[in-house]
Amino acid sequence: MPPVYSQTQLLIIGGGPGGYVAALRAAQLGIQTTLIEGAQLGGTCLNIGCIPSKALIHAAEAYAQAAEQAGGRSVLGIRSGELTLDLATTQAWKAGIVNKLTTGVAALLKKHGVKVIQAWAEIVDGKTVEIRSAASDQAPQRIQCAHLLLAAGSQEQALPSLPFGAGQGRVVSSTEALSFAEVPRELVVVGAGYIGLELGTAWRKLGAQVTVVEAQDRLLPAYDAELVRPVAQSLAGLGIKTLLSHRVEGLNAEGTALSVRDPQGQLVELPADKILVAVGRRPRIEGWGLERLMLDMAGRAVRVDAQCRTSMKDVWAIGDLVGEPLLAHRAMAQGEMVAELIAGKKRRFEPSSIPAVCFTDPEIVQAGHTPASAEALALAQGFKLLQAQFPFAANGRALSLESPEGFVRVLARADNHLILGWQAVGAAVSELSAAFGLSLEMGATLEDVAHTIHAHPTLGEAVQEACLRALGQALHI
Ligand code: FAD
Ligand code: NAD
Repeated sequence: MPPVYSQTQLLIIGGGPGGYVAALRAAQLGIQTTLIEGAQLGGTCLNIGCIPSKALIHAAEAYAQAAEQAGGRSVLGIRSGELTLDLATTQAWKAGIVNKLTTGVAALLKKHGVKVIQAWAEIVDGKTVEIRSAASDQAPQRIQCAHLLLAAGSQEQALPSLPFGAGQGRVVSSTEALSFAEVPRELVVVGAGYIGLELGTAWRKLGAQVTVVEAQDRLLPAYDAELVRPVAQSLAGLGIKTLLSHRVEGLNAEGTALSVRDPQGQLVELPADKILVAVGRRPRIEGWGLERLMLDMAGRAVRVDAQCRTSMKDVWAIGDLVGEPLLAHRAMAQGEMVAELIAGKKRRFEPSSIPAVCFTDPEIVQAGHTPASAEALALAQGFKLLQAQFPFAANGRALSLESPEGFVRVLARADNHLILGWQAVGAAVSELSAAFGLSLEMGATLEDVAHTIHAHPTLGEAVQEACLRALGQALHI
């Protein structure tokens, strides 16, 4: 059957945070926009990523606090009766949040006049995409466009020795680990990165015995050791076992345990009723005709320039498909920019910072330069670096939140006091990412932050005090 053709100005493949934000902004700017999504609007982030994981983390924390109260261990003096967990209700509550947000995205797209097609897209060429229809008696639909935006996201990375589904469903990805129907008795997590530690901590708090196996010699290798220390202490306090510098060999012969090799080369068996493999995600580049475009690639990611243009004219790519950092807010910012470029505005993707937050207990934030990259910059440009930390142990709000551990760190040039980077570790510090991002984008100096009145008592006072300390003027330490 010959294909049926239709036209649109902008065609977007993928309705995750990158694709749907691009569609909203394009429609606002008067661009005729069609968005194709094969699974659910909201993509990885809303359906199987950021949102359900943070909901689970919140529920787990509430349960852990209730367990302390029921066990007579609450330092607040709160005592409660019998503790039970109705996990089905927890999961339904989590699904309700996901549903609210994804239906919200659908409503926004409709309100803005974006045409949304629920189907898998197959690229024919740089101007044509075919919609795969489930019904074999229907003619294939082809959409032609002036601009093609690729926002197909990423998928879980499997380990060859530990394929997903092995051991009669024991080996799982984050998608299944977000939706366990029962709390696993023994959960082994492979990979001490974002997903491994966020979900490993949540399931430990919900009652699982958790062991984390990491190939490198440290947890969260993306962050500096000092920043990770409070998280490592908290994991130990929660009773999570962390095995560093261990190599995964595969399942044991019975398929009931994970075999790992310790740093001395000894084989160790870790019994597990679930094994979460969280060793990274990779751009989704196969199975939808991307190879037909013969785009320049950067490893497994689609190569783009500072405007998210691929090597083919009027073909754009954003989000996880273009590689690290795999973060929803980066995808959204790129999507918004591409829509504006197509509308004829002048834009480049050169943010001063893409803040990263790890929702461990305690949380970690990193924005702008890291200590290592700031040192390298200082060396290359011949300036001295100022670095100052303010501990939450000296912050009233942190103490009243029972969270004295952690600190805020600021990095700045010694010559003109321009702030180069921020790090923080502590309870609820994810919310400080807004202040950090803003100060970096606005080109703030230490004085700008130090002389801003910060409300009392807040964690934000530690941000101000870090700057005061860098200036030699700390008041509360
Ligand atoms: P995706 O969100 O992956 O969306 C791509 C969409 O394209 C998908 O819906 C897919 O179905 C669709 N698609 C693909 N191919 C086709 C095709 N051929 N036809 C039609 N549709 C197609 N990031 C954060 O910033 N903060 C967090 O707290 C965070 N937590 C996370 C927790 C977990 C467990 C996971 C897995 C990820 C987390 N992330 C987090 C990462 C974040 O989810 C991604 O960076 C983000 O979703 C990327 O957005 P995207 O639009 O590029 O791709
Ligand atoms: P990750 O890159 O954060 O961590 C993977 C970890 O697995 C690393 O520590 C790595 O050394 C380890 N590893 C790799 N191979 C291994 C092996 N064979 N054996 C043992 N350990 C091994 O990846 P992730 O946790 O899977 O998350 C994927 C992506 O999702 C991240 O890049 C992140 O950007 C995104 N994400 C973000 C958030 C957030 O922003 N809070 C939360 C979850 C996921």
